[in-house]
Amino acid sequence: MPIGMPHMGNLYIPFKALFQRLDIDYVMPPVNNQRTLSLGVKYSPEGLCIPFKLTLGNLIEAVELGADTLLMPGGSGICRLGYYAKTQEQILHDLGYEGELIQVGVSERKLFGLLEIIKRLSNNAPWSKIISAFRFGVAKLNGLDRIERVVQRVRPVERIKGTANRLFTKAINAIDRAGDYGTLKKVQVDYINQLNQIDKDTQYKPLIVGITGEFYVLLEPFSNLDIESELGKLGVEVRRTTFISGWTKFSLFLNPLGMNEKARIHKAALPYLKRDIGGDGWESVGEKVLHAKEYDGIIHLAPFTCMPEIVAQNIMPTTKENIPVLTILCDEQMAKSGMLTRLEAFVDLLERRRRSQNNNRHQVTT
Ligand code: SF4
Repeated sequence: MPIGMPHMGNLYIPFKALFQRLDIDYVMPPVNNQRTLSLGVKYSPEGLCIPFKLTLGNLIEAVELGADTLLMPGGSGICRLGYYAKTQEQILHDLGYEGELIQVGVSERKLFGLLEIIKRLSNNAPWSKIISAFRFGVAKLNGLDRIERVVQRVRPVERIKGTANRLFTKAINAIDRAGDYGTLKKVQVDYINQLNQIDKDTQYKPLIVGITGEFYVLLEPFSNLDIESELGKLGVEVRRTTFISGWTKFSLFLNPLGMNEKARIHKAALPYLKRDIGGDGWESVGEKVLHAKEYDGIIHLAPFTCMPEIVAQNIMPTTKENIPVLTILCDEQMAKSGMLTRLEAFVDLLERRRRSQNNNRHQVTT
């Protein structure tokens, strides 16, 4: 029963580890590339959002490689994510695929729903074995996110652009290969040390830009044309609060205890938006309000036609917390040159804004 599932950033690494430890036959489709997108675009209804198209492309490529059981995250939320799995299953059947597509209800059952499915796929392996394999996968996930946070801080200040990214790629591969906790720990320490030792411009004070928006386009660099690296090249430090390791920690341990990681963000958004509007729209508004004093600007990533983010985009200019926001709509038409021009103009604006704020402060004190 070869299993296939879509990509989202480096999420394939913890899943690979989990499946290997449970002897589940995992067929990994190629990481997102132009062909994946073309397949997704070709077989999706035109107006659907880019996460649907890319994940459909992944599923088709997994089937081509022999997967006969597909896992697809879904849910009963307000936006169209709830229809993803059913629609994709129908499209795959129309293309002649006869296997099973299992919807993983991440929005209702969170990770517990996934664990139940894993139990079934592992031929009813004992819970102790599943939990142990799962813990190792989570350890890899935590390691990846820990290193990525360091990479985000180093990119804008490194003297030779691209050094942190090259190390990050090596670290990702090393974490993927790590077969035990000891090696995993060593890889993290080694690469964080190497990142800290990169030659940096210690005098330079980078602009701080928060990245917010829809979960998938935040976490899948192919869908956002690797915007974080591009900002790093422009000397901007990116702050992103969304990491899968954080979501995992809350959905497994803290949400069942009544703790809601988003409560602070929702509270911040309340004066402008009183309820969940699906996807991550509520959080996008809250992040702008919450971080207006802390960041120089915000980049709001939204899949084209994404209803929750369209609502958020329209609310953002009306908040009294004043901070420049650049909304970037991600779809298959987005071209790197166009995005770079917009980023350069935005960074230019933020630099001038910072200079004028510094001048004003200087005049007040003299
Ligand atoms: S939040 Fe937006 S992009 Fe994500 S599934 Fe819903 S409509 Fe699509």
